Amino acid sequence: MSGLVDPFGRNIHYLRLSVTDRCDLRCQYCLPEGFNDFDEPEDWLSFAELTRVVRAFAELGTHRIRITGGEPLVRRDLPALIGSLAALPGIDDLSLSTNATRLRRLAAPLHVAGIRRLNVSLDSLDAATYRRITRGKLDKVVDGLMAAKAAGFAPIKINMVVMKGINDHEVVDMVEFCKTHGFTLRFIETMPVGDTGRSATEHYISLDIIRERLAARYTLTDGHLSGGGPARYVRVDDSPLHVGFITPMSQHFCDTCNRVRLSADGTLYLCLGQDDKYELRPLLRAGISDAELREHIAHAITLKPERHEFRETPSRVVRFMSMTGG
Ligand code: SAM
Repeated sequence: MSGLVDPFGRNIHYLRLSVTDRCDLRCQYCLPEGFNDFDEPEDWLSFAELTRVVRAFAELGTHRIRITGGEPLVRRDLPALIGSLAALPGIDDLSLSTNATRLRRLAAPLHVAGIRRLNVSLDSLDAATYRRITRGKLDKVVDGLMAAKAAGFAPIKINMVVMKGINDHEVVDMVEFCKTHGFTLRFIETMPVGDTGRSATEHYISLDIIRERLAARYTLTDGHLSGGGPARYVRVDDSPLHVGFITPMSQHFCDTCNRVRLSADGTLYLCLGQDDKYELRPLLRAGISDAELREHIAHAITLKPERHEFRETPSRVVRFMSMTGG
């Protein structure tokens, strides 16, 4: 049990660390096409500052770190940061979320540096649909995934945001693709985060419907995979494939929330679906001590809200998902 417990008795032992808000894709539910209004690099925490914050979290009992973005692989020299984090006492689970466009070259160095678990966003296996959703190129992602497999990452989890009329007809193809390659598959419901996320919710589809569609074709049995996240898993037929359902809209999981998020500019966001936050960068740059840093983090956790209100107040979160990394 971590030393960090929020006012609702939840043990906070998982930090998602966004290393940049920049991204080389423009997913239709995340960033507007043509968007370029990113943070300035001088406002990003340096690798030394990021490592210092993670060390403070580790000393407070947080052992699980996920690197995210924006697209984390666009941050220069990322493997060097991973190496520093992996060397910290108490950090025993370093994972990464990526769109995989740059993974072909970076898979091996990231694995050597200490990342083991990998989540890859992949919403379509059809090049035209992939381009429509992300404005990116599917072949780069598939190359990146194969490089990750060759580098020895395990598990590799594919995250697919399912959208009605856009890619929901591909869920069986995605199951078969993941079965063939030994990947885990997770479906995600579209969330109203930022204006782009809100407009994409016109394509929202409850994952209950997707589960029913899969059940018509496969035998699904309740399964379990460790990972610390909110996915509810099923096993597909008698294959090793696990499929997870992440349902922030149809069945929220706030009562088991175990995480906070640090954005690239050093803001600690206490809930994905609320604005509650705590600015660490000015404190770090004002020269606070390590003990004071731990006190500030512990205080920030007391401000964590009970739950998101995506359904009741979908207009609440103005920031784009690329600031906090999902
Ligand atoms: N670039 C990295 C990646 O692709 O995994 C990390 C950041 S990305 C913002 C993290 C995840 O958030 C991706 O799987 C993405 O599909 C998901 N995401 C972004 N906006 C979303 C939305 N409005 N609803 C649901 N998921 C969203």
